[in-house]
Amino acid sequence: MFNKILIANRGEIALRILRAAKELGVATVAVHSTADKDAMHVRLADESVCIGPPSARESYLNIPALLSACEITGADAIHPGYGFLSENARFAEICGDHNIAFIGPKAEHIRIMGDKIEAKRTARRLGIPCVPGSDGGVTDDDEAMKIARGIGFPVLIKASSGGGGRGMKVARTEADLSTALSMARSEAKAAFGDDAVYLEKYLERPRHIEIQVLGDGRGAAVHLGERDCSLQRRHQKVLEESPSPALNPAQRIDIGEIVARAMRELQYLGVGTVEFLYEEGQFFFIEMNTRIQVEHPVTEMITGIDLVNEQIRIAAGAELGFTQADVSFSGHAIECRINAEHPETFRPSPGRIAYYHPPGGLGVRVDSAVYQGYNIPPNYDSLVGKLIVHGRTRPEALMRLRRALDEFIIDGIDTTIPLFRTLLRNADIQAGNYDIHWLERFLAEGAE
Ligand code: ADP
Repeated sequence: MFNKILIANRGEIALRILRAAKELGVATVAVHSTADKDAMHVRLADESVCIGPPSARESYLNIPALLSACEITGADAIHPGYGFLSENARFAEICGDHNIAFIGPKAEHIRIMGDKIEAKRTARRLGIPCVPGSDGGVTDDDEAMKIARGIGFPVLIKASSGGGGRGMKVARTEADLSTALSMARSEAKAAFGDDAVYLEKYLERPRHIEIQVLGDGRGAAVHLGERDCSLQRRHQKVLEESPSPALNPAQRIDIGEIVARAMRELQYLGVGTVEFLYEEGQFFFIEMNTRIQVEHPVTEMITGIDLVNEQIRIAAGAELGFTQADVSFSGHAIECRINAEHPETFRPSPGRIAYYHPPGGLGVRVDSAVYQGYNIPPNYDSLVGKLIVHGRTRPEALMRLRRALDEFIIDGIDTTIPLFRTLLRNADIQAGNYDIHWLERFLAEGAE
C-alpha cells in the first residue's frame, strides 16, 4: 500500500478521497490554490501545500507544482479525482516517470478513451454496441453528406476531443449540415485545440444509462450495475439514480456482461464508466470515462462497495478480490447535484454561506466540502455538494429524498435545492418517465 497520497483536486471529491485514504490508513496531502486556503480538504488532510494562484491553469493543472509538492512531502501516489488532470494521459505518464503512482487507469487506456473517434472504434472492436455514424473523422463536406444520408437525418456532429457537452451540433436537415459542420469544427478548435469531428445519428428521445466498471489491470473485471443520468441540463447531469427505472433485470445483466467482458479483454485497471444512450430497448455506446465520476455514490449505496477504496487498492497492485457473483444490488439510490446557482436562471452564486444545516437520518448521505461561514470562491465549478439517498424501493427513496431536501438549509447563497423540490412533485419524475431532453422541456415550459 502507499505511504502517502497527494490529492490533486479540491471540493467534495478531495474530501471523498481523503476519507477513503484514512480508512486505508494512508496519510494524505492536500494541495490548494490561494483561493482555497480555507477549504475543508486543506484542514482535514495530514499536510497541505499551496500550489499557486486561483486560476486552475496555474494551480490544480500545474504539473510541475504538483510534482514538487510530492517531492516536498514524500507522497508516493497522486489521486487526480475528476476533472482537472484526471483524464490527462501525459500526466499519468509523467507521474510514472517520477516514480509516483497515478491512481487511475493505464495511460494507454486514458488516451484511447479521450479520443472519441478512437474510443468508438475500440468499443466496436470489443463488441460494445455503438450509435450508427461515421467510421472515423469527417473532413470533407461531400463525404459527410453521403454518411449523413446513409444514417438518416437528424445527425449530430461531435468533436473527437469533446467533453462537457461542448462542440456538439445537430443538423436536422441536409440544408443544415454544412453550417453545423463548420460551427462544430470551430467550436472544437477553440475549446480543445483539435477540430476533428465525427457524425452520429441524433437520437430524439434517448435515456442516458451508464455502466460502472472496476478492473484490476490483469484481466479481472466486474460491472457494478447502471446509473440512469437522463435528467440533464445543457448536457450536464443534474440527478442520477440506480437502478434505472427503464431497465428490467435481464437487460441489466446483458449490458453489464457485455461491458465487463470488454473490460476483461482490455485488461482495464481501476474504475471507469461506459456511457450509453438507450432508446427503444437498444443501447448505443457514446463514450467511456476513465476516472471516478461525480455520481459514483449512487452505485456505492446499492452495492456497498467503496469505489475510491477499490481504486486506491488496485492502483497499489492489489487484486480485485471478488468476482461478479459476489456483487449484489440492494434497493434504490438517487443523487441530486446541488449547485451554487439560482434555481431558475442558473446564474452562479458564489459567496459566503451564512448558515448551513445538512440533512441526516437513515439512508441519507451528503458529500460536500462546504461549511457554515465558508466563502465559495468564484473561480471553480458551482457544485456545493451531493445529496444521495437510499431506500429499499424507488418510492421509498423518493420520499426520503423529499424529506432530506426539506431539511437541507444553505443560507447566504442561491442553490438549486428548490429546483429539486419542484422536480420531485412532478408526475413524470415520480414515475421515472423521463429522457435526456425532459428537463430542458420542463424548464422551457416553466419559463413561458
Ligand atoms: P461529452 O463528453 O461532451 O459530455 P457525450 O458524448 O458524453 O459528450 O454526450 C453528452 C450528452 O450529449 C449525452 O448525455 C446526451 O445527452 C447527448 N448526446 C450525445 N450523443 C448523442 C446522440 N447521438 N443523440 C442524442 N443526444 C446525444
